[in-house]
Amino acid sequence: MKFSVSFSRCVLACAEACALILGLLPSQAQDIEKHESHGIAVANMDGAVKPGDDFYQYANGAWIKRTEIPPDRSRIGVFTGLADLSDKRTAALIEEAAKADAPAGSNTRKIADLYNSYMDEATIEAKGLAPLRSQLEAIAAIHDQRALARALGESLRADVDALNNTNFHTANLFGLWVAPGFNESEHYAAYLLQGGLQLPDREYYLADTERMRQIRTQYQAHISAMLKLAGFTDTDARATHIVELEHAIAEKHISLADSEDIRKANNTWKQSDFAANAPGLDWAEYFRGAGLSQQASFIVWQPSAFTGEAALVASTPLDTWKDWLAYHLIEAYAAVLPKAFADERYAFFGKTLTGAPQQRPRWQRGVTVTNQLLGNAVGRIYAQKYFSPEAKAQAEALVANIIAAFRKRIDALPWMDPATKAEAQAKLTTLYVGIGYPETWRDYSAYEVKADDIFGNMWRGSLFNYHRSVERLGAPVDRKEWSMTPQTVNAVNLPLQNALNFPAAILQPPFFDPLAPSAVNYGAIGSVIGHEISHTFDTEGSAFDSKGRVRNWWTPADLAHFDAATARLAAQYDTYKPFPDLSVNGKQTLAENIADVAGISAAYDGYCASLVGKTAPVQDGFTGDQQFFIAFGQNWGSKTRDAALRQQVLTDPHAPAQYRADTARNIDAWYTAFAVQPGEKLYLAPSDRVRIW
Ligand SMILES: [Zn+2]
Repeated sequence: MKFSVSFSRCVLACAEACALILGLLPSQAQDIEKHESHGIAVANMDGAVKPGDDFYQYANGAWIKRTEIPPDRSRIGVFTGLADLSDKRTAALIEEAAKADAPAGSNTRKIADLYNSYMDEATIEAKGLAPLRSQLEAIAAIHDQRALARALGESLRADVDALNNTNFHTANLFGLWVAPGFNESEHYAAYLLQGGLQLPDREYYLADTERMRQIRTQYQAHISAMLKLAGFTDTDARATHIVELEHAIAEKHISLADSEDIRKANNTWKQSDFAANAPGLDWAEYFRGAGLSQQASFIVWQPSAFTGEAALVASTPLDTWKDWLAYHLIEAYAAVLPKAFADERYAFFGKTLTGAPQQRPRWQRGVTVTNQLLGNAVGRIYAQKYFSPEAKAQAEALVANIIAAFRKRIDALPWMDPATKAEAQAKLTTLYVGIGYPETWRDYSAYEVKADDIFGNMWRGSLFNYHRSVERLGAPVDRKEWSMTPQTVNAVNLPLQNALNFPAAILQPPFFDPLAPSAVNYGAIGSVIGHEISHTFDTEGSAFDSKGRVRNWWTPADLAHFDAATARLAAQYDTYKPFPDLSVNGKQTLAENIADVAGISAAYDGYCASLVGKTAPVQDGFTGDQQFFIAFGQNWGSKTRDAALRQQVLTDPHAPAQYRADTARNIDAWYTAFAVQPGEKLYLAPSDRVRIW
């Protein structure tokens, strides 16, 4: 599970995590780059707010007041500011690659050609819809259910990721995720996930609210407009049928909260089971189209959705499915079609869905695409240039201290059975922690990139990722493989590999600054590290043992205690209301909220241990403990447009930023640090504070 907020809406179907699509104003990115002061950002605080009333505002209020969301962003914050800086650096690396005149076939040349082909709007305009022509003709030629099944199979991509980057969304009928097996974690297995929707989640089709009804009306108009641009006739009628079909698919989907429950996901179907379990789709033909005829079994994440969607293949008119396929193809590549397509796509998926009135500059989108398709090639250069061996060593020491703090916390748990504790400790022993960059680099030699063919580059890129995934089915698992690129401002826990990745791009100020007081580093990056470690033991992580297998290593009494404690945390988050008509979903965000509470607890312990009995120096008038908590709260400084925030509440496993900062209210030391008293808004009686680890 990854640490921060991000969205699963990629510009194309690909196996990579979506880059953060938002950022800081250039002037603020420079502030971070210069990082002249080392410590908490006092100028960002609002001293007029009592920490006990609104800790998030206290830590970030002045910044929130003086900051405006740029017109091309739906969100702005600390994470996005660093992402912007990382983007700028990456863009500079790409420009260097473009000037290098590197030999054909080299990674440097591929980076240059991919980026330049994205930037070459004149060629894109001149080609018009021609790059899609043969695909559209193939869809038009579908004449029966068998051909339909084959086409649906051919569209399968490795574009979902249930546990690492928590991306449950694919617009294709289904999505493939290749990862260590739930039941046999030494080898790669095939997971299949529900799909078929363009909108971010089933709620967009089913929720009976004014806002969602409006979105649905605009969505239908958008489909019609896209089809019209592509030369289709009768586009209103076609759009109506496509929306009806997606609405029917949405009714078969299970909710995001249910999808996150891996106990519901561990369903092995042999290939021969599909016809009986999910009649309606010609599965043999589907798997032939997908190149998976030889795959004997799959783990079907949401069985009821497979049954429902397969039935819809049979019961919905063939012409509707053909229109659905054509529209989905056009939508997937709209960003690299002529401007009219790209603008129409942005008007709906950008403006309407996220509220950002302006699209990001093309060069930034080009960087995003290059990171998605050649992320490791770019990351290798990035890590060499921006992550020193000294920074790596310091970050490793910090991680070691927090792991040691976690060990102590586990040993001290009064409720946990000794056998459960032993397995928890074993998980910490086998945990692989990747700092900065991976030990080996991905081989891109099979990915063909051409200088003047952005559509082909993206098409082949998504197929390259797909084939790479399919080819490793059954092969031994590489536990040291990374799932994030070094230039990503984020962190991730990989439960099936029992591994953590902390990319180079997050290991820099304000999260990690070798010159800052240790209170600040522990509060900022330390709580991120603690967050990821704790995923190893949360609702999801506790389902995996020290070898990454799904195995119940908890006693029933331990589990009952854990469930009771976490239910209280879910109830706490259910009370948060970012909008009068929309509450945070405590269950949907539970795993991340547990990780936040545990992360700050372990980071605080690690910080106290690092003091070795001394009192931390006061800086800017704040005690060490105050600096620790303010640094934690400042991780979350951000502003989000209402539309994007609503989308996050509905579709993201992470709670909105302000509640993540306010979760300090569960930690006793926070009350002491700020003398928080009963009656203040965030005050919780000691018995109401949720302690999990
Ligand atoms: Zn997380």
